[in-house]
Amino acid sequence: MNGLMMDTSLSITSIIKHAEQVNGDTEIVSVTSDNPRHRYTYREAFARARRLANAIAGWGLEQGDRIATLAWNDYRHFETYYSSACSGYVCHTVNPRLFPEQLVYIINHAEDKYVFLDPDFVPLVEGLASQCPGVQGWVVLTSEDNMPGTSLDNVICYETLVASGDEHFEWPELDENTACALCYTSGTTGNPKGVVYSHRSTLLHAYATMMPDAMGLSRKDVVLPIVPMFHVNAWGTPYSCPIAGAKLVFPGSKMGDGETLATLINEEGVTMSAGVPTVWLGLIAYLKASGKRVDSLKSIIVGGAACPLSVMEDFDTFGVDTHVGWGMTEMSPLGSVNSSPSSREDYSDGDYAKVRLKAGRPIFGVEMKIVDDDGKDLPWDGEAFGSLKVRGPWICSSYFKLEGSDAHEEEGWFETGDVATIDPDGFMAITDRTKDVIKSGGEWISSIEVENVATDHPKVAEAAVIGHFHPKWSERPLLIVVKGPEGDDLSEEEMLAWFDGKIAKWWTPEAVQFVDELPHTATGKLQKVKLREMFKDYSFPE
Ligand code: AMP
Repeated sequence: MNGLMMDTSLSITSIIKHAEQVNGDTEIVSVTSDNPRHRYTYREAFARARRLANAIAGWGLEQGDRIATLAWNDYRHFETYYSSACSGYVCHTVNPRLFPEQLVYIINHAEDKYVFLDPDFVPLVEGLASQCPGVQGWVVLTSEDNMPGTSLDNVICYETLVASGDEHFEWPELDENTACALCYTSGTTGNPKGVVYSHRSTLLHAYATMMPDAMGLSRKDVVLPIVPMFHVNAWGTPYSCPIAGAKLVFPGSKMGDGETLATLINEEGVTMSAGVPTVWLGLIAYLKASGKRVDSLKSIIVGGAACPLSVMEDFDTFGVDTHVGWGMTEMSPLGSVNSSPSSREDYSDGDYAKVRLKAGRPIFGVEMKIVDDDGKDLPWDGEAFGSLKVRGPWICSSYFKLEGSDAHEEEGWFETGDVATIDPDGFMAITDRTKDVIKSGGEWISSIEVENVATDHPKVAEAAVIGHFHPKWSERPLLIVVKGPEGDDLSEEEMLAWFDGKIAKWWTPEAVQFVDELPHTATGKLQKVKLREMFKDYSFPE
């Protein structure tokens, strides 16, 4: 016997209707290149999203076609999210921090038909547009007055486009499994892989993130998403905030600037924020240097990389609760949040520090397990560590246009590439990574690609790159080199100079260490775990 409940579609279009009717007066505030403080309401935002959708409808796109964005967190990006997805297209958020070859690959692999770009990225796009023949037009996210001069063909001004649309556009009915967004994530080897979110997965994820022990969002909140909208949909905040009725504050391109963040927090009354450890270091440094405070800010979620204890303790002095969050692009992204133990008083200081550093408990909807090398379940005793696997309705079941990935080898489970322990209370802690990548300031560096460039150097016999703790960037690449027969005089300077122009500047190793040999397994495979162990006491030069 089935239940007798209505089968209404779990689509993000329903967020629009709800936010317009119930939270219509709540504000969205943005920093943009043409306005240091743009403000309007959800009602106005969705009226413009409708105009935009109506204008785009004239382009003759088909359902499922991809519309890309290369944009900072701001209101125009927010409008583009909804206009494209709720029209039945897929909003493909492209990470502008990737280097041009990867951008070209991603735009072509996704078969993007139009690209909406911030004026800041016009020079970047001019350099690659000719290699993206499938793109029919480039929409610059600004007004006519602020349109930059450009050599791009088929350029459209965003504000002119919005003005040409009809506000009375009717959103189409969409099946809840329709794709709404696409985001690529860099892998260990090969090209970035696309994760396709559906309306259903996005809506369920938004519901879950609003729960009190997750992001705990309500109408009283003012949320500053510092995590980019081009990196896993700013952790779902563009969806969860209009549902909750929380005010949104978008920092635009200023997401790394401590002073701008502090000013936005104080002037807009921000209560909650989310971002990677590196951005918090910038804010803390500014607060300490200026003597300012951020009294409205009650809590932050720190994710994307391990959060240093010093960040938590610094925020303690400002009265801000720091919660570690863990997740992945493949998980929409939220998987766990450390909403901390029942009471701080129950713990000694040392134990409290240990608990709060963990990645937290799975949020309802995400199932986790840790397994050994034979795939057998490991106990949740806080000691046993193994490969972390997850499943749930907002976790990807396969990658876009990619048959059979290793991560999906076990039917129904996704292998995260993280190694973890889980304690009897359900607190998961990341202890290592099986995927060979480095996360610097929240963005991926492929160690294998860096190693390939290093070993091309005529004086290098063998090279390995490991992610190593860095106080500002969480991790930076440390290059470990075995010199070849001609390499006696190979210096760190010469080695580092070799990377110029071969990889993105921020992928260049932070430092080089020379060794006589690298550790290998019996089959000749490099033992990265052993290498990390060998250099665990190493510190990058100041
Ligand atoms: P991304 O898909 O770029 O969001 O990266 C996801 C990966 O970032 C995870 O698989 C982890 O390796 C890492 N990560 C995310 N959150 C944390 C955290 N709280 N602690 C340690 N690593 C994390």
